This record gives sequence, structure tokens and C-alpha cells, in this order.
Amino acid sequence: MSQTLMNDAENAAVTAAAPAETAAALSFKASEKIVYENNKLHKRLCRQVGQAIGDFNMIEDGDKIMVCLSGGKDSYALLDILMTLRERAPIKFDIVAVNLDQKQPNFPDHILPAYLKELGIPFHIENQDTYSIVKRLIPEGKTTCSLCSRLRRGILYRVADELGANKIALGHHRDDIMETFFLNMFFGAKIKGMPPKLQSDDGKHIVIRPLAYVKEADTERYAQVKNFPIIPCDLCGSQENLQRKQIKNMLREWEKKHPGRVDNIFSSLSTVVPSHLMDGELFGFKDLKATGEAMANGDIAFDEEPCSTGSTVSSIIPLRSEE
Ligand code: SF4
Repeated sequence: MSQTLMNDAENAAVTAAAPAETAAALSFKASEKIVYENNKLHKRLCRQVGQAIGDFNMIEDGDKIMVCLSGGKDSYALLDILMTLRERAPIKFDIVAVNLDQKQPNFPDHILPAYLKELGIPFHIENQDTYSIVKRLIPEGKTTCSLCSRLRRGILYRVADELGANKIALGHHRDDIMETFFLNMFFGAKIKGMPPKLQSDDGKHIVIRPLAYVKEADTERYAQVKNFPIIPCDLCGSQENLQRKQIKNMLREWEKKHPGRVDNIFSSLSTVVPSHLMDGELFGFKDLKATGEAMANGDIAFDEEPCSTGSTVSSIIPLRSEE
């Protein structure tokens, strides 16, 4: 074979191999990026959960935490992140996972025990047919959720007692908290949210929500990344809560049109100024008297409110004396 022919053949081989190599390199880069993004997501979840635990002193040395597992994305994420944090924590606490099997039709009762066995953590499945009770007591077409959750709450408190758990962890996240806040305001005429930490109704336990700072979009993605065996949440056949759906859509629209607004609303939940609201139980308006002493961080009632750009009205419209 002549040298020219050999070179041509070699060149042809190289040209044919090049696209294949490029495709392999590209797909390697893409998978590296996915791994990087997934690590970032895991780190963010750990940081936000750790932050919420610290801010509200949710977990203390010697606690036994009962993690309520429904089979939905949020409770799987909660358990997973708490287990990671437990390994890194300077304190010791125990975790026991609990699922309440409410005997809804077609509930796949093998999924959670198999998952939890593989994780190797202590768990308990509580079998209670609340589904039949709810169906018997609530007329067809009426919302079943309030009775169902009241029954569930009572059972979970009892189980926590039996398991010796002093704290009960729930998988509610930042979006749940915001939605509840607006639901209470729009439909209940109250400024009331969903606290990250509270005493249970029976006074015996502390209920914690370690995902309080976590966005739902993140638990959704984390569930995909970790391939959690999700159990559908519509087995009870209950109608979707339309009011909650409306609020969810409202928040989504706001965030689309005004990025950052939802973050600001969420931050405002931890920056409450009772003296500038109208609840006489929170602030003693009736007994308010002038003290005669100036306060450095006192009231700014006569100052102009900052505009959304950060400028004040007077910085945009010159005052008469400056004209
Ligand atoms: S959606 Fe179904 S399982 Fe969930 S609280 Fe409502 S009735 Fe109960």
C-alpha cells in the first residue's frame, strides 16, 4: 500500500473516531455536572436543615426523634438528611421512623418496611384503619382531611409515647409554611403560620419541622436524585384542597413576576414588630405612654417608606427647599 493511501486510511479512521470521542467526552462532562449539582443540592439541604435545627434549638443531646414517614418526597428527604446530620453532629440523638398505615385502598404496605430495613434504622409501622372511620363519619363529597388528620395526630402522639420518643419530626417545608400563612390570613383572618417548633396538643412532646427553610422544589429534585420509592398521596380519594392550590399558584406567579418577593415574605415571618401591628394582646397599646426619652431605634412613623428600588420618595422627587 502506498504511503498516500495509508495516510488517507489513517485520516479516515481518525475522522470517524473523532465524533465518537467528542460525544463520549461531552457525556462525561454532562454526567460530571449532574454529580456536581446533586452534591450541591445535598449540601444545601444539610446546611438549611442544620440552620433551622440550630435557630430553633430543635434537637438536643439525648433526644429520641420520631420521624413521621408518609411515603411522600418530603418525609423521605427529612429522614435522609437527619440521618446524614446525625453522623456529623457533636451531640447524640436517636431516630426512629414511623409510618401510619391508615388502610387506604391499594396502599402498598411492603414499600416502606423494605426501604427502612435496607437503611438499617429502627422503625415502626402502626396499622390503624382510620380510612374506614373517616368514610363512615364524613358524608360523601365532603372534605375528609380535617377528621383524618385529627385521628392521625392522636395516634402519632400515642405511638411517640410508646416508643419513648420525646420529639416528633414532620416533613413540612418552607412552601407549606408560606401557604399556611396565607391560608390563615385569607380564609381565617389571622396572622398565623406553621411553626418550626411547637408543643404537641397533649403537652407531652415537642413537634419539630427541620425542613422549615427548605424549598419544595429542592425536596422534589432530591427525591428524584435519590430515587425514593414514592407512595402516591391520593389513595384516600380526598378532593384536592383548592384553597391551598390557589395560594400555591399565587406565590408561584409572584415569584415569576417579582423574583425575590417570596424570599422577602418568608424572611418577614421571623421579623415581626408587634408594636406596628394591631393586636392588643401582643402589644400594650392601651397602656402606651410617652416616656420622655428618645430611643435610638425608635419609631420612624413620619419617615417615608423605602421604595422597592431602595430609594425614598424624596430622593426621587426633590423636596421644595432643594428646588
Ligand atoms: S389527603 Fe387523605 S390521607 Fe391526607 S389528610 Fe386528607 S383524607 Fe387524610
